[in-house]
Amino acid sequence: MTEAWPAMPEGSRLALREILIHGVLSRAEIARSLGLSRASLTRAMRTLVANRMVVEIGTDVRGATGRPSELLQTSAGEWEFLGVKLTKDRVYAAVTDLGGRVLALHEEAIVSPAPEDLADQVAGVADRLRAVHPAICATGVSLPGDVVSRGGVSIVASSQFLGWQDVPFADLLRERTGLTVFTANDVHALTAKEHWLGAGAGRRSMVLVTVGEGLGLGLIANGQVSTGAHGRLGRIGHLPVLGGGPDCGIGHAGCASSYLPSPVIVRNSGHEGATYDEVVELARSGDARAIRAFEDAGRALGVVLASAVLIADPSAIVLTGDGLPVYDLARASVDEALRGALAPYTEAVAIEVQPFEFSEWARAGAVFAIRRLLGE
Ligand SMILES: [Zn+2]
Repeated sequence: MTEAWPAMPEGSRLALREILIHGVLSRAEIARSLGLSRASLTRAMRTLVANRMVVEIGTDVRGATGRPSELLQTSAGEWEFLGVKLTKDRVYAAVTDLGGRVLALHEEAIVSPAPEDLADQVAGVADRLRAVHPAICATGVSLPGDVVSRGGVSIVASSQFLGWQDVPFADLLRERTGLTVFTANDVHALTAKEHWLGAGAGRRSMVLVTVGEGLGLGLIANGQVSTGAHGRLGRIGHLPVLGGGPDCGIGHAGCASSYLPSPVIVRNSGHEGATYDEVVELARSGDARAIRAFEDAGRALGVVLASAVLIADPSAIVLTGDGLPVYDLARASVDEALRGALAPYTEAVAIEVQPFEFSEWARAGAVFAIRRLLGE
């Protein structure tokens, strides 16, 4: 029997959020960062301890007053979450605890992308994982598509990869599992995860850029994930970058998709039929055409990053994705294009490179669910 996530007062939710983001915090640190009185903090923590969400793990005597303060951490094994990432052909799943620590991973091929069929398949994955992890109380499904809320119902308005229009996937999965289900655009979910538990932990503003087969951008503004009016925030795949370059396939000359997606780098390198990894190796070993394709991609990436800085003014950019070799191989081109596009501003941009693992997309679904349960 799944225990439902309880409603909690705001003080408890904010205190739990602080502990989640920082990993371990003392009571004194929580009180200070939330501006809570000792009595309010005691009430907030009592709820969290009663709900078995946090545990005390010793005392800290570093505080300014020298008074010992109990150290708190999210509990393990009490509340667990299922994160799911859908691609056009695979289901990735991760079970995490309340702190977002991964407890189990699973992946399998999608049998049929039809919404009802895929809901059946994901429900089957959930059933098998819940047999081992009965504490799973909610799930977050991230997918390549536009997710919107209509009348309080989460709808996948469109997913080109899955061939969906107006699919209430959260409802379909909830009917089959009885779990609380949230759906999110995959880049938005990854941004939410990096903001709490990754390179952007605790920042008020942050941009995440993913490079790989496609391009994506996520935005944290005022501490919240922005999704845009139509769930399409960060659709930068066809952002004009250099102009006058090769056609991207839909008529733009010199947009980001003329240079930056991994399959386009392969094509521009003249080594058609090679894999992306092979073209990376060719560039590393000095192949002039491969190097040029990566330098062009690097310039495009520099303009993309500059555009993000100019529009969002973030405190950091997190760069991730399986296309990260671009940043490694063509750093000089990226930096030069970034500086040029940012002129007259000359401040350095903090770019945090986050190594890419596919399981992180699934984990992001779980963290997205935790955020939503905490009212974010
Ligand atoms: Zn284009």
